[in-house]
Amino acid sequence: MEKTMNLYKMIPKVDQILDNKVIKDLLDKNSKNLVMESIHEELDNIRNNISNGYDKNIISNKIENLIDNIKDNLMNKKTFSLRNVVNASGVVIHTNLGRSVLNDEILENVKNISVGYSNLEYDLEKGERGSRYSHLSEIIKKITGAEDCMVVNNNAAAVMLILSTMAKGKNVITSRSELVEIGGSFRIPDVCRESGAELKEIGTTNKTHLSDYENAIDENTAALFKVHQSNFKILGFTESVSSFELNSLKEKYNIPIIEDLGSGVLIDLSKYGLSHEPTVQECIKNGVDVVSFSGDKLLGGVQAGIIVGKKEYIEKMKKNQLTRALRVDKFTLSALEAVFSYYIDEELAISKIPTLNMLTIKIDELYSKAQKFIEYLGSNNEFSYEIIDIDSEVGAGSLPTQKLPSKAVKVISKSFTENELEEKLRNNKIPIIARIHKGNLIFDIRTIFENEFCIIKDALNSLIGE
Ligand SMILES: *Cc1c(COP(=O)(O)O)cnc(C)c1O
Repeated sequence: MEKTMNLYKMIPKVDQILDNKVIKDLLDKNSKNLVMESIHEELDNIRNNISNGYDKNIISNKIENLIDNIKDNLMNKKTFSLRNVVNASGVVIHTNLGRSVLNDEILENVKNISVGYSNLEYDLEKGERGSRYSHLSEIIKKITGAEDCMVVNNNAAAVMLILSTMAKGKNVITSRSELVEIGGSFRIPDVCRESGAELKEIGTTNKTHLSDYENAIDENTAALFKVHQSNFKILGFTESVSSFELNSLKEKYNIPIIEDLGSGVLIDLSKYGLSHEPTVQECIKNGVDVVSFSGDKLLGGVQAGIIVGKKEYIEKMKKNQLTRALRVDKFTLSALEAVFSYYIDEELAISKIPTLNMLTIKIDELYSKAQKFIEYLGSNNEFSYEIIDIDSEVGAGSLPTQKLPSKAVKVISKSFTENELEEKLRNNKIPIIARIHKGNLIFDIRTIFENEFCIIKDALNSLIGE
């Protein structure tokens, strides 16, 4: 008891701590409440250690380091939860890591629009209230060839809005091969139900014929609904009906075709060595009345659900009550306007939009980048590096069977196992998300930016105390 009392007496008083130069400095630069919180937490921590009977040496050590610990505590408090990581996984559109990456020009536009007022919902010509959806409509119509467009929170919301507007209380006909589930529990049958539309399943998993659609049409059918099999492929004995083929039924029965395209490619990627994904333009040309797609998958923009198609349907969607709940803000609109502006010129889009750039980069460029990276990392006693062949992934359920031949830098370590390295890098101040491949930690060079080389180098150096 006597001994414990002495330990308590060793703890500095708050006034004393506040007199410390380091703490005074912290108080100059930070909110007083936050600094006080850190001081009290660290003091409580020591008191708890004493009451739990910790060794005297441990306690005096903590008291000695009290000021440093308060500082660390404060820094931890000030670190935001959402922060940057280095994506060394090679998954280009990594849903868990924020999908598409933006460039500075796009962000400059977002910043300009956000630090001041804007004409978000103001018609400058008429001097009266305007529509936030008007800003993107000209450019999206020009690029996609559609009559009209609108933008909502994400593609899941877009599908919900389309079905709710066009098919509530009625049925939509969908092939059993297209009842997809996208990561994060987006399931076509559930979305249909939530929107108030009845899903009429037709065909089988592997085969659906035009006659299946025709036989299912009744007086209560609102639309033929196609869903892109984004994240899987059905191979072998298969048959499906393209949206183009559905046109014959559309005319005969006067019912529209809706397509959830998923990724939203605007460029024929087969020209750049990737497999062909149906583009939004093709969909519109093929007679689809309403198409929806994501803003942050292969389009390379921000989270959004973009709806393009016939004016008569999109006008109705704009009036749906759901639209207000799903509406996007000026961050989304200003980012998307900048992204779409690149698509006026295909080459520009490929070079400026980071997602497209990473997907189409040539293998010899990846090799040079890997060489540069190894050179930059330098050599030491602990780590050596080797360039290896690897396949990257597109990600976000886009082009699931696409192999993207890439280059990775393999880390050969004397004292760390690959799992230890993976964990330590993941817990780095700026987390580094690497991959384990055949018993080694690897950095896929495709998704690492050159200005991140130093983060990886510092992290590896800190592991060997340099
Ligand atoms: C990804 C995807 C969605 C969901 O899009 P989000 O923008 O993530 O909401 C819906 N349908 C298909 C076919 C998809 O590929």
